[in-house]
Amino acid sequence: MNFDLFSFKAPPLKTVYEKNKKEVINMRLRNVKNSQERLEQSPYFIKNPKEYKGKWHTLFKNQNPIHLEIGTGKGNFLITMAKKYPEINFIGMEKFSSVLLRATEKVENESLPNLYFICEDAKEIQEIFDHEISTIYLNFSDPWPKKRHEKRRLTSRNYLSLYENVFKEEKRIVQKTDNIGLFAFSLEELSKMGYILNKVSLDLKNEDILNVVTEYEEKFSQLGFKINYVEAIKHKDS
Ligand code: SAM
Repeated sequence: MNFDLFSFKAPPLKTVYEKNKKEVINMRLRNVKNSQERLEQSPYFIKNPKEYKGKWHTLFKNQNPIHLEIGTGKGNFLITMAKKYPEINFIGMEKFSSVLLRATEKVENESLPNLYFICEDAKEIQEIFDHEISTIYLNFSDPWPKKRHEKRRLTSRNYLSLYENVFKEEKRIVQKTDNIGLFAFSLEELSKMGYILNKVSLDLKNEDILNVVTEYEEKFSQLGFKINYVEAIKHKDS
């Protein structure tokens, strides 16, 4: 792309956006004391996910489809999804233990047999899953706006290639983002990697699409920002 959509901001909202974006970024908790040890106490936390590679169904004890959210944050989206869709198994992947701890704490008094969390970086994904995921959710992923960092974006060809052997048959990626630059980049990368853009919206709130709101989405929507949405599908052998 020749123009810098990553730095696009609606002019009247610029100041409020910058201020609140900082607040949103501060939603991340860092250095929570003993977060790894505390995570390990949770029955929802899988400490050694690589041991389940190719056999996640044995953990869920059924053959239901498995959906994965990468960058699950504090877990609101996945917890609601797990309650809403008991016939689907959900795994939340998050690289920071201090953030993930907040997700496991939210469900400590609940019984959700179709939900687990793992503390891993997406770059390890091929070591963890082998032809067993039906859908990957990428909700408000870090945009990495600098061109030299584009390989770090979770929808870069770099990552889309890593996802290839993680998917079971049909590959389905669902992305939501407030960042129009990341969104435009993602649409290009998904298309180049053979995905069909099944549903696309520049204003999810005004679409007839079933939606479960994430933490970041709630904040950005309250600020009046439109949410971009894509459901991309790649059929088996295409
Ligand atoms: N999905 C949540 C939401 O929509 O509210 C959180 C969005 S937050 C902007 C992005 C999250 O992705 C952060 O919690 C971050 O730690 C996590 N993350 C970023 N890169 C990651 C990676 N490579 N692997 C796993 N998690 C990652």
